Amino acid sequence: MKILVLNSGSSTQKSALFELGPQLSPDPIPPLWEGKLEWDGNKETLVVKNSAGKKIRTDGELGAGDRTGSVEKLLQHLWTGPTAIVKTATEVNAIGHRIVHGGAKLTEPTRVTTEVRQAIADVASIAPLHNQVGLQGIDLATKLFPNTPQFVVFDTGFHRTLPDEAKIYAGPYSWYEQGIRRYGFHGINHEYCAHRAAQLLGRELPSLKIVTCHLGNGCSLAAIDGGKSIDTTMGFTPLEGLVMGTRGGSMDPGILVHLLRTGSSADGLDNILNRQSGLLGVSGLSSDMRDIVQAMKNGNEKAKLAFDIFIHRLCSCIAAMAASLQGLDVLVFTAGIGENSSEVRSAACARLGFLGISLNQGKNAGVRSDTEISLGDSRVRVLVIRAQEDWSIAQTCIRLLAKET
Ligand code: AMP
Repeated sequence: MKILVLNSGSSTQKSALFELGPQLSPDPIPPLWEGKLEWDGNKETLVVKNSAGKKIRTDGELGAGDRTGSVEKLLQHLWTGPTAIVKTATEVNAIGHRIVHGGAKLTEPTRVTTEVRQAIADVASIAPLHNQVGLQGIDLATKLFPNTPQFVVFDTGFHRTLPDEAKIYAGPYSWYEQGIRRYGFHGINHEYCAHRAAQLLGRELPSLKIVTCHLGNGCSLAAIDGGKSIDTTMGFTPLEGLVMGTRGGSMDPGILVHLLRTGSSADGLDNILNRQSGLLGVSGLSSDMRDIVQAMKNGNEKAKLAFDIFIHRLCSCIAAMAASLQGLDVLVFTAGIGENSSEVRSAACARLGFLGISLNQGKNAGVRSDTEISLGDSRVRVLVIRAQEDWSIAQTCIRLLAKET
């Protein structure tokens, strides 16, 4: 089975082709082919990789034009030119899409139908940046692969099990009735990491209390009890919770009221909260943790402050998740920062010793995913797990295809 996964982000378009058997595989398998488009201001970059993860095509500075046109060209590299991996588009058996926001109704992975497409469009007002690009991906796939079944997997879906006290904000109850509630995000990876952690530790998932730390461009935590999400740091939108690259996470809502009363517009605030805050906002330097750590090592005080605020919030929120779980067996670090920054893992774990976390500094420094990095006598096991959203979506497609036949 050849499964194409489209992972449409606000400034990236990832795509991966997997070849999978009908049985679900316990270990992630690398894709046969990977294509990625990235937009940074006016610059568009295309990278295509083969199954060994080797770059086989790179085009930089293409000049960002029409997104759909660029994604169409990217996908055509699947069957045309030197990077082709299939003879025709019809060789693709199914397509899986990552959709950020499923709202209250769409929680389970499902086949794309006219009604499902409309339901995704209906919640696009809550997550305009993300759901619109997801819809564009669905429409493009319908054009390029007209007879191929398409499935959608929602980043909010895993958090469908949040109990009311974690899900409902303490505003007027009518907010909840209007759909204003905690949804939570990054669910595809939080769920995958919980399963992978149990597998790596040789334990049964129902017996474990796990906090997964998804620390990438966007950052969120999930409190996972027996495999179910019972609390998470992102909320109604992906703005709440931890400090992120360009988002500041939770802050006093009174600040926003004050700024609105003193001349800021809703659009201006939206831009500040989504693009000008977080590591970038505090440091004035970069949204990338690599740059922050490097500048901090070179003595840049604002970079150190940004790092310190990031760690302060991360530790407060991990402890809050442990409190929701009423215990903690496993702490997982995942995504770009979680997998790669030994400095972040070390600084966070040093503060969390009181929870029973002891890091093996040697393992932490030289880590390769997927590995345990805690000491043998650490009460809480600490793991680094590589995010595998695309592979997870491909697996879901196989499961749903099997159900249909
Ligand atoms: P993701 O959203 O999972 O792709 O993560 C992207 C982010 O990971 C980047 O913006 C960086 O801040 C961070 N990152 C990637 N590599 C490293 C590294 N070696 N050290 C620290 N942060 C990293």
